[in-house]
Amino acid sequence: MRKSIMVDMDEVITEGGFLYLINDFLGANYTKEDIKEYYMQDLVPDKRAFFDYFIKHNQYDYCKLLPDVREVLKYLQDYYDIYIGTSYIIKEILQECGINLVHKHNYLYEKLPFISPENYIFISNKALLNCDVKIDDKLSNLENAKIKLLFTAYHNKDLDDAYLKSLGVIRVNNWLEIKDILVKELDNESSSTTK
Ligand SMILES: [Mg+2]
Repeated sequence: MRKSIMVDMDEVITEGGFLYLINDFLGANYTKEDIKEYYMQDLVPDKRAFFDYFIKHNQYDYCKLLPDVREVLKYLQDYYDIYIGTSYIIKEILQECGINLVHKHNYLYEKLPFISPENYIFISNKALLNCDVKIDDKLSNLENAKIKLLFTAYHNKDLDDAYLKSLGVIRVNNWLEIKDILVKELDNESSSTTK
């Protein structure tokens, strides 16, 4: 049976747009290295004014795909069922954040046309999803997966390997590492079924 993979979107498939808008709004030059917490908006003193600005822009106009993501997903799609599991909720603007869902949908549709929108899952609590493999930059989003891959991002760099190992989590730094792990997994599986 084909295994399922849940792939997170922000900081795993694409990055850069949210920070771009923060810098544009503040007239600042923050880089990822300046951010330690998960929520980048904590950099902004006047969040209400920022989000008024934010909802008039599309952060994905300023995003870039991470290296190799398109090629690796396309390759893995022959062997795995791939779902994009992403939250569009922004807790400061619960009423207005539907526009973020539209922007996400359109970006995925344009940049990864080989993944059907039927495989987009817009969800906040990703622990509700049971997938064989989860790839996410947020540790708590990896719950309920057999293979848990933590994608290195600005806010999780300092989690040490021993701690991750105790949780059964493997750190991955790029998409070629992911491909390696998931191709090996296919090999393991085929050798165990032929025994
Ligand atoms: Mg993410």
